[in-house]
Order: sequence, then C-alpha cells, then structure tokens
Amino acid sequence: MDGSNAMAAPAVLILLGPPGAGKGTQARKLTDRFGLVQLSTGDLLRAAVAEGTEAGKQAEAVMKAGGLVSDDIVIAILRDRMSQPDCAAGVILDGFPRTAGQARALDSLLAESGQEIAAAISLEVDDAAMVERVSGRYTCAKCGEGYHDSFKQPETAGVCDVCGSTEFKRRPDDNADAVATRLEAYHAETAPLIAYYSDQGVLKTVDAMADIDSVSDRMAGIVQDAFA
Ligand code: ADP
Ligand code: ADP
Ligand code: ZN
Repeated sequence: MDGSNAMAAPAVLILLGPPGAGKGTQARKLTDRFGLVQLSTGDLLRAAVAEGTEAGKQAEAVMKAGGLVSDDIVIAILRDRMSQPDCAAGVILDGFPRTAGQARALDSLLAESGQEIAAAISLEVDDAAMVERVSGRYTCAKCGEGYHDSFKQPETAGVCDVCGSTEFKRRPDDNADAVATRLEAYHAETAPLIAYYSDQGVLKTVDAMADIDSVSDRMAGIVQDAFA
C-alpha cells in the first residue's frame, strides 16, 4: 500500500457493471494500490460450491445457467465475510449488490457497523463487447490473476506474471448462453441500482470500454477523491 493513500475512516467501495465489465480486474488493482480488501460474491459463491456447503448446493445450478442466486443466500455469505476482522478497514465490493433487496440489506449492514459507502462506481460497457470479454477470460489457478485470450496474455506464454504458475482455469458459466442470461439479469435487476446510488449522491461512472490501464487510472482518481 502507498502510505500517502492511507484512509481515515472505514469505507466501502461498490463496483457495478455487467459480466465482463472489468470489476474483478479493477478490484485487484485497487487492492494492490490502496490496501483495500476485495470481496467478490462470485468468488465466495464459487468457493461454497467447491466446498459443497448447503448454500453452494443451492447456488450451483443457478450460477451455471447465468441466473442470480437468491438474495437470502448471497446476503448471508456477504454478511459473514464482512464481519471478519480484515474487512474492518474497508472493502471493495465486486459484484454485490446486484438487486434492490441486496442494496437495502447492505445499507442496514453498514449502518450497524458504522461504515459508509465512499463511492459506487458504475463500469459502463457495450453489451456487444461483453460476450468477447467473457468468452476469452481465464485466470491463474493458483493466485487468481485474470487474463484474456486477446486483451491480456501473460508476458511469457503459459506462465502467470504474478506467481509463475503454469495452470489456468476457465469458468463454466463463461459461455455464450449463460452470458446472455447474465446480461439480462444485469439489465433487469442490477442496472436500476445506478439510480439508487445516484440518489444517495455516491455514484461515479467510468467508461470501461477503454484499455485496462486507462480504466484503472480513472478509478484510482475516483478512489483518491472519495477518500480525500
Ligand atoms: P461476473 O463476472 O458475471 O460479474 P461473478 O463472478 O461476479 O461474475 O458472478 C458469477 C455468478 O455468481 C453470477 O452469474 C451469479 O449467478 C452469482 N452471483 C455473484 N454475485 C451475486 C449476487 N450479488 N447476487 C446474486 N448472484 C450472484
Ligand atoms: P468482471 O469481473 O466484471 O466480470 P473481469 O475483470 O473478469 O470482469 O474481466 C473480464 C475479461 O475481460 C478478463 O479476461 C479481463 O482480462 C478482460 N478485461 C477487463 N477489463 C478490460 C478492458 N478494459 N479491456 C479489455 N479487456 C478487459
Ligand atoms: Zn498466478
């Protein structure tokens, strides 16, 4: 963490955007730069599926088809993770909230814990680009660094830039059918949250069609202002 960016109060940053917008990619970069904890409900749900927990069993088929997991399950997972000590200094929520019910639950949770939303950043992208973004996506199996067949290959082919692993994985829901369903869910359930956070006075929008580094510079500026 860059010491000059130290934050005074516990604060929460929300990343909104359709599948493939770059939420995970940008959350990782902000984590490195500002020392915030990245909290991805997608990652938490995939871990629950892998562990075979009751929540994971209920979520698995829904996720595979590209639907949204029920608010009850997601809110319980989020609440549990946010109560852990490393989240006390602030978090980046990557993929939560995704429904009005989740947004209200988050407001209650933050009111209880004395945290505030520093900014809700909406990553704006064209639907047409999302299928390509998502279908070319893969990650390092060891450290989770994200890559893309066309837009971000490792510097040495087949070797993770961050940890040197040679194993990579792709998600079962990153196929054209599931992406179409995920985009529909985004427009129906999640896009209305843009107005919700605009009304709260915390909304920022970013052109996420730009290249990864340009998007990340713009986001770092927003975060710095939000915490100033
Ligand atoms: P994406 O790259 O599409 O943004 P995520 O990894 O955030 O993907 O989420 C993968 C899947 O996990 C979603 O399609 C959905 O099924 C489920 N999921 C993740 N976060 C939520 C949430 N906040 N509410 C409901 N379902 C969620
Ligand atoms: P999300 O978490 O919103 O679903 P990701 O961060 O996983 O999205 O990004 C989806 C894919 O697109 C990844 O393969 C990533 O490397 C790539 N990507 C992310 N941002 C950009 C960008 N600005 N330009 C081109 N490709 C990008
Ligand atoms: Zn790695």
